Amino acid sequence: MINPRRTVDDLKELRALTEDENGAQRVAFTPVWSRARDWLRAKLEPLPVEIHVDAAGNEWTTLRGESDRSLLIGGHIDSVPNGGWLDGVLNLLAGVEILRRINAQYHGKPPVTVRLVNWADEEGARFGKSLFGSSACSGNLNLDEARKLIDRDGIRLPDALKSVEIDLERALESRDELKNAAAYIELHIEQGPVLLDLDLPLGAVLGTVGAERHAITFHGQAAHSGSTPMKIRKDAFLAAAKMSPEIYQIAQKYNGVCTIGSCTTKPGIVTSVIEECRITLDQRHIDAVALSQMLEEAKQASKKFSEEGRVTVEWEPLFQIEPILFDKNLIELCADAINETTGKVHRLPSGPLHDAAEVARAGVPTVMMFVQSLRGISHNKIEDTKEEHIELSVIAFDKLAEKTMQHIARKDKE
Ligand SMILES: [Zn+2]
Repeated sequence: MINPRRTVDDLKELRALTEDENGAQRVAFTPVWSRARDWLRAKLEPLPVEIHVDAAGNEWTTLRGESDRSLLIGGHIDSVPNGGWLDGVLNLLAGVEILRRINAQYHGKPPVTVRLVNWADEEGARFGKSLFGSSACSGNLNLDEARKLIDRDGIRLPDALKSVEIDLERALESRDELKNAAAYIELHIEQGPVLLDLDLPLGAVLGTVGAERHAITFHGQAAHSGSTPMKIRKDAFLAAAKMSPEIYQIAQKYNGVCTIGSCTTKPGIVTSVIEECRITLDQRHIDAVALSQMLEEAKQASKKFSEEGRVTVEWEPLFQIEPILFDKNLIELCADAINETTGKVHRLPSGPLHDAAEVARAGVPTVMMFVQSLRGISHNKIEDTKEEHIELSVIAFDKLAEKTMQHIARKDKE
């Protein structure tokens, strides 16, 4: 029998071990992180499992089943500095409890192999590059980029890794771990307010949203603010300002999110018409077509208002990522598991990226389950979820694990 209370107790134990008055301090590749990993290992060792660390520092715990085809359950024990008590570890510790249940129920030999993975450095808090371990495993880690990463104290990523016995040059060998992967599931706190607003404890996650980030620069002409009549000005700020409300209308029209995150002007003095105005735009959507339409409409708006104001406009891409969709069958299994647990299910996209997105990119059928976050806050010591919701999430996630295992076993026999 699954014992969700034990997961809450485990979470509290880890919190006591790795938190100070400012929150969780399990930053990847630091002594507190290593201590947390040792603690996790001690929780797993009583089970008849094999534990090993792969070339990228991800820790794999394997309960061998009748088939080598594997159900993967993932999470991350690393936190941001001053982080919360649930981000990343709820998934792991729910996974530990599920391994205990499966081991007991199947007398150490489940129908398929079940593996718990503790990803290394999901947060990227120290080197500014998130999803280190999972992107190495998916084959998407850019080694050239990783070699150059430096933390605030001037320590290079390759050296930080060496101190915990990871060789960056070999990190991509982690890819071998996915050889027999048949499905990947991950439970996570939502870290946003959607489930809270709907008053629902759990949601099935459709995928992670895609993003388009661009810098948009309007070029006009500086002119004296006293002597220049309004109708002959070439005001770069005016075009940007007129475009702004359109951006919010575009977000509403497509049910996505759009943000103008910065605005800088030149010459930027109180007595001059603005010559140059640079804004940054961040647009996100779970649907690739809607995302590209949002971008297109933003470009049209910038063109319209720059022509109207006799200024020019220039677009420069900053960052792009496509939406990563989870597996349709697994989303339905996840919805069923939630329905059986709480009677109500909501399907929602994830704004943040997660390790699950990397596994999905590697071609492994993937799904995530979200549990409500109080105040919709995360990456903060006030991050919290009602204990009754944590328990419900463990119960529903365990049902998902069982359903997915049976699903893999069925497909195996076909
Ligand atoms: Zn996380």
